[in-house]
Amino acid sequence: MRPSRTFRHGGIRIEDAGGWGRDEPAKNAFLPNGAVILLKQHAGRQARCVVRRGEYVREGMVIGRADGPFSANVHSSVPGIVRDIRIADLPEGGRSEAVVIAMEGSFDRLGRRDERYLWKSMGRNEILTTLRDRGVVDTELPGMPLFDLLSDRKDLALLVINAVESEPYLGAEDRILRDRAPEIAEGVSILRKILEPKRIAIAASGPCPESLPLSGEGGELEYVQLEPKYPQDMPSQLLEALGGAVKRGSPEAVFLRASTAFAVYEAIVLAKPMVERYISMGGGALKRPSVLKARIGTRIGDLIEECGGFLGPPTRLVLGGAIRGHSVHDLDEPITKTSSAVIALDPEEVGSLRRSPCIRCGRCAEVCPERLDPDLLYRLVERGLRSRALGLGLGSCTSCGACGYVCPSRLPLVSAFSSTEAPLPGSAGAAAGRLS
Ligand code: SF4
Ligand code: SF4
Repeated sequence: MRPSRTFRHGGIRIEDAGGWGRDEPAKNAFLPNGAVILLKQHAGRQARCVVRRGEYVREGMVIGRADGPFSANVHSSVPGIVRDIRIADLPEGGRSEAVVIAMEGSFDRLGRRDERYLWKSMGRNEILTTLRDRGVVDTELPGMPLFDLLSDRKDLALLVINAVESEPYLGAEDRILRDRAPEIAEGVSILRKILEPKRIAIAASGPCPESLPLSGEGGELEYVQLEPKYPQDMPSQLLEALGGAVKRGSPEAVFLRASTAFAVYEAIVLAKPMVERYISMGGGALKRPSVLKARIGTRIGDLIEECGGFLGPPTRLVLGGAIRGHSVHDLDEPITKTSSAVIALDPEEVGSLRRSPCIRCGRCAEVCPERLDPDLLYRLVERGLRSRALGLGLGSCTSCGACGYVCPSRLPLVSAFSSTEAPLPGSAGAAAGRLS
């Protein structure tokens, strides 16, 4: 039976794009010969580089130090020699220094039994500073460091652990919840100690894993299976579907990805910095879609090779979801703490990229979960009447991309709404609109 809980207005019912990534446990990706580790993988300023060319770095060593609020420590994901420190493009725009490491020497942890640390005697501040030292950020963009995000939050009404997959091809959050349920539950217990929330809900697209303990000495966990509908994974839509008294935008609620709860577990229980990522590999142009556990800094091209390469030249390559992700033009781009997926779309999935005039079909308004009229807002923004558009609710646009996804005229609605400049042609959300 399909779960019926979801948000009320709009949204896109996207049929499950395969079940491929979810049926099998995640595989460990091959260790990369070299890693390109960006020093900005978080919301704040780029971390300050603390290594030099030619220096040997150990696995898990700090190579970038947090530089102010919302910045985060960055660690080496492999042992090796620093070959270069250069400027690299960020997938979501902007630039950052990157440390290029050629793998060499032995791994300190790999293949060894993990030692467990007894965290229950740790105080709240000690847990928070340990998360800061180990560079733990929320795995959802923009990568908020947990130290900055959670330090002032206590006695919350609601903590949501978000394992919902609402875009096609994605499966990493669902997969990590299935593969590592007891560890995620322990990560949630640590978060419970920091936040003391009245209610903790794990929201997911699939049924509750048998290995997930829903009650324990720390308290109860509520598991809520939600209908697979886009954008069910966004905070407003999660709050609506979960019910309860917490209003949208309330500081009383915190939303963290399931993979973030796992990173909390690893940082506190195993003393492991954030150096790995579960990542969905999918799309019609990819030979063997799967979910991989990969070292941060691994080239996208290496991960694609691990999936058997392309069936044919992809029309578009996207980092993140096919609706909200960012187009990638270089297979040398590395994955980061916030990379959730690499999607290689074939011509059929992308459809025509040609833009044409609005045909007033009304589909954008039908799917908008915020009950906006994207067609009208777009016309106003195009004519430079942004303040009038704001008066008609543009400010409540969440940039979910649902309108651009269904628009048959391929109008770049979302980039027009989220930018004060001219809309960018071919943004991933606007281009990937023929998946259903
Ligand atoms: S991007 Fe904005 S206008 Fe478009 S569907 Fe989402 S909330 Fe509505
Ligand atoms: S979906 Fe596109 S073509 Fe249809 S009304 Fe909206 S903007 Fe116009």
